[in-house]
Amino acid sequence: MIIIMLGAPGTGKGTVSGMLSNELNIPQVSTGDIFRKHINEHTELGELAEKYISKGQLVPDDVTIDLVKDRLQQQDVQSGVILDGFPRTVKQAEALDNMLENMNKNVSMTINLTTPEKELIERIVNRRQCPNCKASYNLVLNPPKKENICDKCGHELTKRKDDNKDTFKDRLKTYFNQTSPLVDYYEKQNKLYSALVSQSINKMGKDVTKDVVEYIKKNHIT
Ligand code: ADP
Ligand code: ZN
Repeated sequence: MIIIMLGAPGTGKGTVSGMLSNELNIPQVSTGDIFRKHINEHTELGELAEKYISKGQLVPDDVTIDLVKDRLQQQDVQSGVILDGFPRTVKQAEALDNMLENMNKNVSMTINLTTPEKELIERIVNRRQCPNCKASYNLVLNPPKKENICDKCGHELTKRKDDNKDTFKDRLKTYFNQTSPLVDYYEKQNKLYSALVSQSINKMGKDVTKDVVEYIKKNHIT
C-alpha cells in the first residue's frame, strides 16, 4: 500500500501520517524529516536543503527525487509506505509514478488535508516537536504535561526554525503555487481522498485517521 499525504503546512500531515503508520503497520517517510536530519548532521545535502527550507522554498526536484528513489529501494518499505511531504510538485509526482511503475507498484490513495488559513498559522507558531521520538505538541491544543518536556520520552522539545510567521507565509505561497496542482493530478487518477481538518467542525487528525482507516477497509484498498 502506498499512501501519499498532501496538504498545506500546518494541516497535520505529519500527525495523520504517524497515526496511520501505527494503524496500518507501514512506515512513514517524511522528506521534511529526512532533510532536517541532514541539516542537524551538517551533511552536504543538509547544507543545500537548509538554503531552501529557511526561505520557505522547495528543495530542488532532482535532489529530492533522487533521495526518495533511494529510500524506496530499502527493505522496510517494500510492503507499504506513507509518503509524508512527497511529491510536492508535478515533476515529483511524475517521477514517482515512473519509479513505482518500474517496481510494479502504484499509488493506492492520496489523502488531501485542508484547513482554514487562520487555523494553520495558529498551529504553526504553537507547534513544538520532540527531536528524539518525533512526538508533536501544540502549546494551546495539546500541550505537554511538563513545560517543554516530551510526555513520551522526557526529551526537551524544540521548535522548527521555519515555524515562524514570515517563513510560514512563504511556505503557504509555495504550497499554492507548486504543490496544490497535485490535487488535480490525483483527482484525475481517481486517487484523491479529501478531508477537512478543523476545530470549527471538531474534526482533528485523529478523527480523520479513523475515517481513512474505515475507508481503506470498506474499499479494499491495498
Ligand atoms: P510542512 O509541510 O509543514 O512545510 P515538511 O516537514 O513536510 O513541513 O517540509 C519542510 C520543508 O522541507 C519544506 O518547506 C521544503 O522546503 C522541504 N521539503 C520537504 N519535502 C519536500 C519535497 N518533496 N520537495 C521539496 N522540498 C521539500
Ligand atoms: Zn519524545
